[in-house]
Amino acid sequence: MNRPYNFSAGPAVLPEEVLRQAQQEMLDWQGSGMCVMEMSHRSKEFISIAEQAEADFRTLLNMPDHYKVLFMQGGATAQFSLVPLNLLSEKESADYINTGQWSTKAIKEAQRYCDVNVVASSAEEGFTRIPTRDTWQVNPDAAYFHYTPNETIGGVEFFDTPEVDVPLVADMSSTILSRPVDVSKFGLIYAGAQKNIGPAGLTLVVVDEALLGKAAAATPSIFDYQKVAAADSMLNTPPTYTWYIAGLVFKWLLDKGGLEQMAITNKEKAEKLYAAIDSSDFYVNKVDIACRSWMNIPFILKNSELDAAFLSEAKEVGLTTLKGHRSVGGMRASIYNAMPKEGVDTLIGFMKEFERTKG
Ligand SMILES: *Cc1c(COP(=O)(O)O)cnc(C)c1O
Repeated sequence: MNRPYNFSAGPAVLPEEVLRQAQQEMLDWQGSGMCVMEMSHRSKEFISIAEQAEADFRTLLNMPDHYKVLFMQGGATAQFSLVPLNLLSEKESADYINTGQWSTKAIKEAQRYCDVNVVASSAEEGFTRIPTRDTWQVNPDAAYFHYTPNETIGGVEFFDTPEVDVPLVADMSSTILSRPVDVSKFGLIYAGAQKNIGPAGLTLVVVDEALLGKAAAATPSIFDYQKVAAADSMLNTPPTYTWYIAGLVFKWLLDKGGLEQMAITNKEKAEKLYAAIDSSDFYVNKVDIACRSWMNIPFILKNSELDAAFLSEAKEVGLTTLKGHRSVGGMRASIYNAMPKEGVDTLIGFMKEFERTKG
């Protein structure tokens, strides 16, 4: 079977080795006679799967012991509410920087719970750059500072961790595990699984223990970080199969050399694709070179009348899901960890050929 290269932004491509292992273990997980989907989340089999996944995730991120890992549901979108609900405590205000559509959504949701101080925004520049640090109007009394390290739609990525004096909160949905991060700089990190971790249905939260126990009284128990942590993310039935697949992805990453190696490969893939875009008069990426995402690369065709032909001809040669987000138009190539180098090379080859014949 010839699977196409899938450039979907999420749910996204998974490592083929992981899919094959899941297939092999589908009917009988390691002699248990059961599919993982059929196991009680309290069974010793599933507990071993869950614990191993967490241990490998910690190893990958080189995570200090005073951080808890929570396996939650509701996606990153639920976290837009759960962060203020859990972290505001007696404070009335939180800092947010607006660098794109996901930041904008996080801000909008947080406004239901507190005064949101938007420290800076690149909305007027069409979210093509990160406002420079000296322009940020931070509030020293903010409960936390929230940012989106990788804007999945705009293709804007922070390559430096913001230096702030309040707990740092990051929506890492589309960049987590793509390169090493210094977890100790963060109060809280969250990420929906369906970009770079595994299937949809799971949200990973990494939180400094010091921030637990401050949830607003009305916070549902299932969304109270402290209660979730105390129950090892099993206050209720977790998304067991997604947790298992995430565990297989973590093992795959460790086998591939961990995040240092991912960073090398991801940088190489992204630089090649940007070089191909920049060297043509036919394709354009408008994002400031200093903050171009390694994971999501939007580009437009100067002549948008060719968009439909580009997409259909790409599909014919096994390159799928390149259509840009509906709000931006054009194209977007999401090249997460599981996208092999050959996928990017094939895309570049196709783009050059399309330009040669249509340009
Ligand atoms: C995809 C995405 C989201 C939304 O995730 P859901 O899991 O669908 O709620 C939020 N933030 C970022 C940066 C994303 O890429």
